[in-house]
Amino acid sequence: MVDECLRTGWVSTLGPFVSRFEDELRRVTGAQHVIAMASGTAALHLTLHTLGVGPGDEVIVPALSFVATANAVAHCGGIPHFVDSELETLGLDAMSLHRRLKNIASQRGKQLINNETGAVIKAIVPMHAFGHPCDIRNIIRVADEFGIPVVEDAAESLGSSIAGRHTGTFGTAGFLSFNGNKIVTTGNGGAVLTNDETLAQRLRHLSTTAKRAHAWEFLHDEVAWNYRLPNINAALGCAQLSRLSDLLSRKRRLAARYQSVFAVIESISFNNEPANTASNFWLSTVQLESSDRASRNSVLQAAHDAGYLCRPVWNLLSELPMYSRAPRGDLSVATEIENSVICLPSGPRLLT
Ligand SMILES: *Cc1c(COP(=O)(O)O)cnc(C)c1O
Repeated sequence: MVDECLRTGWVSTLGPFVSRFEDELRRVTGAQHVIAMASGTAALHLTLHTLGVGPGDEVIVPALSFVATANAVAHCGGIPHFVDSELETLGLDAMSLHRRLKNIASQRGKQLINNETGAVIKAIVPMHAFGHPCDIRNIIRVADEFGIPVVEDAAESLGSSIAGRHTGTFGTAGFLSFNGNKIVTTGNGGAVLTNDETLAQRLRHLSTTAKRAHAWEFLHDEVAWNYRLPNINAALGCAQLSRLSDLLSRKRRLAARYQSVFAVIESISFNNEPANTASNFWLSTVQLESSDRASRNSVLQAAHDAGYLCRPVWNLLSELPMYSRAPRGDLSVATEIENSVICLPSGPRLLT
């Protein structure tokens, strides 16, 4: 497919493979609209911008996530507001979210105001961690109660579902990433999933320099971005997607193997997919009984010394220098996860 793409000369922005890749993603996810983007970060940035996140606005994100989740908020001029995670899913905790909003927020007209900072809280971005679906339905219940939209960070969860419904299709919008480390890659790339046609049209317009359709004239009607996925990357994506079910079954078999190995070690538990969900098992992780950072580090060091490239989870975003003064609720469970969860080697070729 990449050959065909090169032969036709349509290597750059848009082209037949972009539409084909979007069609296939619609089939895989069940989303009504899919807009392929240059990266997952670009997908989230543009979605938040389109939903009205602007300078000084707050967006709720889990403290335990990849830095891009918070960066996309900052790219809008917004401020990430960190909320705790739960052990069951490793994702945003619906109860902590509810408690936090009850404590600090109040509705003023159509806006949700953080009474402590005076800022408007514009959206919630839960994340499906390591491919395990988070408690998205309860999170959306809380979001509805407070009248704000949910954008799902499904960057890691292509192929994951809850009762048969694909992650990223529960909220107002969701997005996938096709970075090199994800289950399906386009080199660099992402996609927005949404059932909202107006939002989808806005995203298409703003991601292609807001150029009005015209046979020959260059008319751009607002400040916009060059955020679309190039055709050459989409061709790669089409080829990769045709392998998705094989990749998913390899990840699942590897996870099952890890699970049986760790079942006999009392002080370590395998983080299995949450009840009633299907995880893509993008990354297999285990949780140490102790949540003491030093003992986690000694396990990581021992694994490295033995030639196993195990990794910690991310440092909490709330501790990074650029976000260290951002608003936050209690983060005790996120801290416990940070200090006790270890990511295992999870390449799809590990088992033959
Ligand atoms: C990979 C990833 C992103 C960002 O995607 P890019 O395509 O790398 O920009 C965002 N959030 C999470 C949780 C990710 O793992």
